[in-house]
Amino acid sequence: MDFMRQKRKGHLIIIALTLLCIVMYGYVVVLGSRNRNPNAVITYFGVDYPVNTIQGLLQQLINMTCIIITCVDCISGRNISFVIVGITLVMTGVRMLATGNIQPLPGEISGSITIVIIFLVAGLFRDARRKSFTDYTTGLLNQRGFLYALDTKIHEKKMCSIIYYQLSNFRAINDDYGHEVGDIVLKVVADRFRQTVGENGNISRIGGAVFAVLVPANTDPEELAERIISSVSKRIDIVFGDVNLGFYLESNAGISSFPADGHDRNNLVRCADVALIYATEAGANTYDVFDEDMSSRMLHDKEIERMIKESLDKKYFYMVYQPQFHVDGKRLRGFEALIRMKRHDGIVISPGEFIPIAEKSNLIYSIDEFAFDYVISEFAGKIPDDSNLKVSVNISANGMASEDTVSKVIEIINKYKFNPKHLEIEITEYSLAESQEQTIKNIAKLREYGITVALDDFGTGYTSLAHLMKLSAGVLKVDKSLVDDIEKGEVNRDFIGSIGSMGHLLNCEVILEGVETEKQLEYVKELDCDIVQGYVWGKPMSLEEALKLL
Ligand code: C2E
Ligand code: CA
Ligand code: CA
Repeated sequence: MDFMRQKRKGHLIIIALTLLCIVMYGYVVVLGSRNRNPNAVITYFGVDYPVNTIQGLLQQLINMTCIIITCVDCISGRNISFVIVGITLVMTGVRMLATGNIQPLPGEISGSITIVIIFLVAGLFRDARRKSFTDYTTGLLNQRGFLYALDTKIHEKKMCSIIYYQLSNFRAINDDYGHEVGDIVLKVVADRFRQTVGENGNISRIGGAVFAVLVPANTDPEELAERIISSVSKRIDIVFGDVNLGFYLESNAGISSFPADGHDRNNLVRCADVALIYATEAGANTYDVFDEDMSSRMLHDKEIERMIKESLDKKYFYMVYQPQFHVDGKRLRGFEALIRMKRHDGIVISPGEFIPIAEKSNLIYSIDEFAFDYVISEFAGKIPDDSNLKVSVNISANGMASEDTVSKVIEIINKYKFNPKHLEIEITEYSLAESQEQTIKNIAKLREYGITVALDDFGTGYTSLAHLMKLSAGVLKVDKSLVDDIEKGEVNRDFIGSIGSMGHLLNCEVILEGVETEKQLEYVKELDCDIVQGYVWGKPMSLEEALKLL
């Protein structure tokens, strides 16, 4: 609903009704001055009417119109009505005193009653409006109230910013402790907002755990967002029944500004929301300021998401296989399966572009499942059983952290009668950070089935030695970024070498990924590492080419 359009419409109605009152009152005055005799009559369409009756009728119509004006706008309408009815009362009163004729007295009484009604109606409407703009739980403005305030600022062409603010872990609190505790937390947060922003700031609860602040032009929105985040993230202690509960709230904020980011409220809110999404991705208790780049990245991500869905639907995905060789003698060790997406126009999109986007949604589960089924179906019956060759499939961090992953893997290898000793599953070091417990359980189960687990992109994360021992991964894949620096100096080579030694200490095979040149290969051969996967010995290839290497 556009509040400003509604307001303009209201003003037009008030002006029209006020003019009508003036015309009616003008006619009352004209009738009075032309017919001084109290018993005068006036003829309309051949019928005689007493002038007093016509005057009384018009007066009542004026009173009614003034009540309608008050209903249209409980503040300016009330004031205008008060002036109109007041003038008619005073004028008639003066006339009564001057002529000593008390015939208009009933009109005076009904006029006075109308003034009382105007005040009552105005009060009721003001109350109803206040309620319709107020959030019941926190006493702050609600979304309607916020949009009204924002519309007013835009209408007045006053520079301002909006802060969209979300409590990211509020849902967990609501789920764990119930809505009553959730409501108390919201009230505490609202108080902290009031203390930080000030009572006069336009603070609103938009819904759920989303708040918004309308920042006036003379306040730095970034500084205010920072203050809000730090004040809300302080510990909250609640006594609920006979238990003491303590929480740390996590939150994020997004900022957009008028007129730089948009000329209407929808755009401004969308921009603040986009900035909020970016802040949320950056981690807890951060804020971000909208810029045009965000919008285009968002559109690009949406387009990729759409393409992923289309590709899953129309089978535009396919797999390529990059060979891995033992450093010693360049014997084939196996292949890493890598996914590709082919657009309808034939352009191939690399997973580096679409996997991170898929990981933000549930699409990654479908991709993982597709890739797994595809690879196992392609290699089923192709690998000699007496060999130790491996086919390695990537599983996302989310996939590895979900409970049913292992059962799905087993279901697929059974479906194609694939020997699990030829299967390797790659998980990134980073996936261990997410839902560690389930991931560790899944790794152990996969190992029980004879499946090898490789820790990918190793050396970029923070996996401790103790953690590594607990994981019992069979393979460490040293990240390409470390191999890239292999020529830079002794320290870099020593670092890779020590990862290799540590891997061997834990009974892991060590793979170096992304070896591109002969020069790098020379250095690699001197290190304590087993396997090379890189362009120098083989790029990702089709199944037919891969099978020729067997
Ligand atoms: P990753 O698992 O670390 O895969 C290795 C990437 O390094 C591959 O890129 C591979 O083509 C590339 N690479 C290998 N050797 C060289 C080299 O010598 N030089 C250079 N410049 N690059 C080399 P790709 O295929 O683009 O895959 C990128 C990432 O996408 C993968 O990194 C992996 O994280 C993800 N990914 C690929 N396929 C899948 C999949 O089926 N499922 C999931 N969940 N993720 C996948
Ligand atoms: Ca990998
Ligand atoms: Ca890797």
